[in-house]
Amino acid sequence: MIKNKYDVIVVGGGTGGVMAAIAAGREGLDTLLIEQYGFLGGTATAGGLCNMASFYFRDEQVIKGLPQEFMDRMVARGGSTPHLRALRSYGSGYYASLYNRETYKNVALEMCEEAGVEILFHTYFVEAIVSGGRIRGVTVVNKSGLSTYYADVFIDCSGDADVAASAGAAFTMGNAEGLIAPGSLMFDVANVDIDRLHDYVMSTLDDYDVKTEQIPVRAPIPENLQQRQFVAQGFYSIFRDKALSGEVYTQKESILFTTTALPGVISLNSSRVHNNPVDARDRTAAILDGHKQAASITDFLIRYVPGFEHAYLADSGAEIGFRESRHIVGEYTMTAEDVQRGRHFDDVIARYGFPCDIHKETRGSFYDHADKSDRTVEGMWIENDDVYDLPYRCLIPEKLDGLIIAGKTISVDHIAHGSTRLMPLVMAEGQAAGIAAKIAIEDQTELRSIDIGKLQKKLIENGASLYRDEKIREEDYRLAKEAIEEFLATKESVNTREDTEWFQL
Ligand SMILES: Cc1cc2nc3c(=O)[nH]c(=O)nc-3n(C[C@H](O)[C@H](O)[C@H](O)COP(=O)(O)OP(=O)(O)OC[C@H]3O[C@@H](n4cnc5c(N)ncnc54)[C@H](O)[C@@H]3O)c2cc1C
Repeated sequence: MIKNKYDVIVVGGGTGGVMAAIAAGREGLDTLLIEQYGFLGGTATAGGLCNMASFYFRDEQVIKGLPQEFMDRMVARGGSTPHLRALRSYGSGYYASLYNRETYKNVALEMCEEAGVEILFHTYFVEAIVSGGRIRGVTVVNKSGLSTYYADVFIDCSGDADVAASAGAAFTMGNAEGLIAPGSLMFDVANVDIDRLHDYVMSTLDDYDVKTEQIPVRAPIPENLQQRQFVAQGFYSIFRDKALSGEVYTQKESILFTTTALPGVISLNSSRVHNNPVDARDRTAAILDGHKQAASITDFLIRYVPGFEHAYLADSGAEIGFRESRHIVGEYTMTAEDVQRGRHFDDVIARYGFPCDIHKETRGSFYDHADKSDRTVEGMWIENDDVYDLPYRCLIPEKLDGLIIAGKTISVDHIAHGSTRLMPLVMAEGQAAGIAAKIAIEDQTELRSIDIGKLQKKLIENGASLYRDEKIREEDYRLAKEAIEEFLATKESVNTREDTEWFQL
């Protein structure tokens, strides 16, 4: 007989889903992970990303536990840098780790296997089976046709709240006008002469809004990944005219690149699409648009930017990375105010502090903007006063039982989402959701009614950082300061001492 009943079913093997499945498996739960692609990682891999950001609030590491264990494994394999400190913050904040997507996939598979997680690849969630206000099963489709699987707990990590929406849970979309953050087709350009590009940036320093070196603080970069690590956003003097005249097909007025874990490979977060991720035709239109932009921007770089003379477009996301999609309406909805004021909650399951990074919701900043000299029209970047707590209730849909969410679709408002969507927090949510499933099943209680103290205790036992420890924080600051001082004293840098961001305790 084909097995069709599990303790837990995780839908979506992406950033949150991998952590949720590992955590549930490690708790001894019989766990099934359903994933549409033939590999794990979701936006982190299929989305073409290469940059895990950020585990830190300023210089304090706030995300630890299972997400950090995952990073440690990638670093040990030579497939990721450790957390690097940016001398100036950019789209990834103050700290980022540059990983190889293939290492991400392998480590995710290895850890799922070790935790005893069963995976069904190339399997698409179709429909939730609900009765009596509780989700009982999910129907999926794959090469074997349609099948239905049942479980005590479902974890929706689909990145679009597909399960919650199908089960009839309430959700919102975007800001007050229903507009969501744009998506991007991330792409890599290879065979770039990194030193020559660095020299060029050094000789055109005024041409960028943001430029920063990225330096190791705690551990050295693995031998095989050694290269200058830097980021720049701009190229205005050579890019904007060509964009406006139509020589380059783009929806942005600047180019943002980062060096990666792969020597000679540059990652471009420079395309932009304004489409609906949960509308099939619109999603397809986004792919066409994204690829046109990636090809055109690459041509521009090869033609005009020193260092790219022998470069080529090497890879792009298997999917458009959609920054925002549905948000479930949960037991609590995190607001911009909660995030920016650093609010604390009794049911904290993770701490975070990434700024609210709101990419402009409407099409092409310069196409509809009269003043072409305004370089701030691409969105909003709002720093938080302090670290905030993420409450467990944001993961629990208001009126549906048997379901918990981990990922960018938790219950938050549009501005708060600019911070909560980042991968380290999503990973921490996954860990919390997997452990919460165990407690609900073991104590025979609803997910919304579990003993939060028990969840917090288990999270802490598993390495999570739920409360500030001043001693550890002081040490984090000291290490960062020393590393920055040494770098500035010994290396040629796109940053001066003055434009480097220093933090006080
Ligand atoms: C362009 C872009 C740049 C970003 N840059 C950064 C950055 O630099 N640093 C950072 O930390 N964060 C960044 N983010 C944010 C972060 O990557 C995402 O918010 C996060 O990865 C979302 O995780 P998730 O688990 O919610 O969804 P995902 O990681 O997307 O996982 C969803 C999973 O579900 C699967 N799935 C979806 N629907 C179905 C279905 N119906 N059936 C079966 N499987 C399904 C998908 O294949 C996928 O594996 C960026 C996001 C984007 C879009």
